[in-house]
Amino acid sequence: MDDMASASSQAGDASPAVHPERLSLLGLEAADLEAVIVEAGLPKFRARQLWRWVWRHGLTEFDEMSDLGKPVREQFATMFTLDRPAVTSRQKSSDGTIKWLLRFPDGNEAETVYIPDDDRGTLCISSQVGCTLTCSFCHTGTQKLVRNLSVAEITGQVLLAMDELGDWPAGKPERRLTNIVLMGMGEPLFNYENVAKAMRIVMSGEGIGLSKRRITLSTSGVVPEIARAGAELGVNLAISLHAVRDELRDELVPINRKYPLDVLIDACRNYPGLSNARRITWEYVMLDGVNDSDADCAALLKLIRGIPSKINLIPFNPWPGSPYECSSDDRIEAFAAKVLRAGYASPVRTPRGRDILAACGQLKSASERARGQRTGTARAREAASGGDAT
Ligand code: SAH
Ligand code: SF4
Repeated sequence: MDDMASASSQAGDASPAVHPERLSLLGLEAADLEAVIVEAGLPKFRARQLWRWVWRHGLTEFDEMSDLGKPVREQFATMFTLDRPAVTSRQKSSDGTIKWLLRFPDGNEAETVYIPDDDRGTLCISSQVGCTLTCSFCHTGTQKLVRNLSVAEITGQVLLAMDELGDWPAGKPERRLTNIVLMGMGEPLFNYENVAKAMRIVMSGEGIGLSKRRITLSTSGVVPEIARAGAELGVNLAISLHAVRDELRDELVPINRKYPLDVLIDACRNYPGLSNARRITWEYVMLDGVNDSDADCAALLKLIRGIPSKINLIPFNPWPGSPYECSSDDRIEAFAAKVLRAGYASPVRTPRGRDILAACGQLKSASERARGQRTGTARAREAASGGDAT
């Protein structure tokens, strides 16, 4: 009964609209898949065969599943889909960063970014369309349309990237995607169930087999879900700190009004499995004249004292109409030097893909951007009607 219940709840999660009668295999955990297979009157081992084709070999056609007889392949094709999210645009930055704009069957959009480095390739994935939070320096936070992404829409971003990067079969030594960060659009801990399921799928040893040490979840500080993520998933935790006084953090990261700094820091101190090898990453966006003084730096070091930590200073990435300026290079260097002296290594994050608006906090779907531009134009017209035309 339990299996059936979980299988039918999955039906609601499948990518809607394109093949409404078929379940998306991208949203099914191994146990869910087994339940569906058994319910269809097939032997359990078919689930395992299917799982490996999907998650180890990345197949998108049932016809290519060579150890399945034709009747089974045909039955699977009527039951399931392996569709990836549709790609509306694909942009490549001069630094090798790739940004995909994805469009889901209901017309909503989200973005995924691949960032190649010397020693790794990181995929930055989205957990929501837009974000309900309204951090004042973040472009995503200005987007009106918001909904959670389904499990299939989250795993679909990983599969799509692996398809395009030529990363199948999963786990091959020269793979390009080695790490995942949940730092795209949305607050992952507001979509905990789907994010958790999607991460369990990509971590599964029979499939992509990504280690939990290679996954980092970034949160603005949804305190009740932090302990859960630690206990259930064991992934690395990054906290969007950005301010070390409640008064300022209330303004920059408004969820601070609900879960203020002392509560947040406590939750982090108790994050399971923390050690020198497994530290919390504190993200700190450098905003000119707002949070970048020496006093702020000293307060930051004091706040996190005793917690195994990495500090990640993020130069503010501007977006059209953003209300802040990035701190000067000198200021960032001085701040970083103080952090370095306190014993934290290489603290400044190099902005990547700025030229294609793919850097932290710049993500916002194109349709929303166009809407924003229209409002901008309308505002310009209003201003013009009251005075000089431009
Ligand atoms: N919602 C989650 C994850 C997505 S944001 C969170 O807030 O943690 C990923 C990181 O980019 C966060 O640290 C976020 O605060 C930061 N960020 C947002 N807008 C930015 C901007 N314009 N410039 C630099 N970093 C930004
Ligand atoms: Fe949402 Fe994170 Fe942007 Fe804040 S910084 S608005 S939580 S995506």
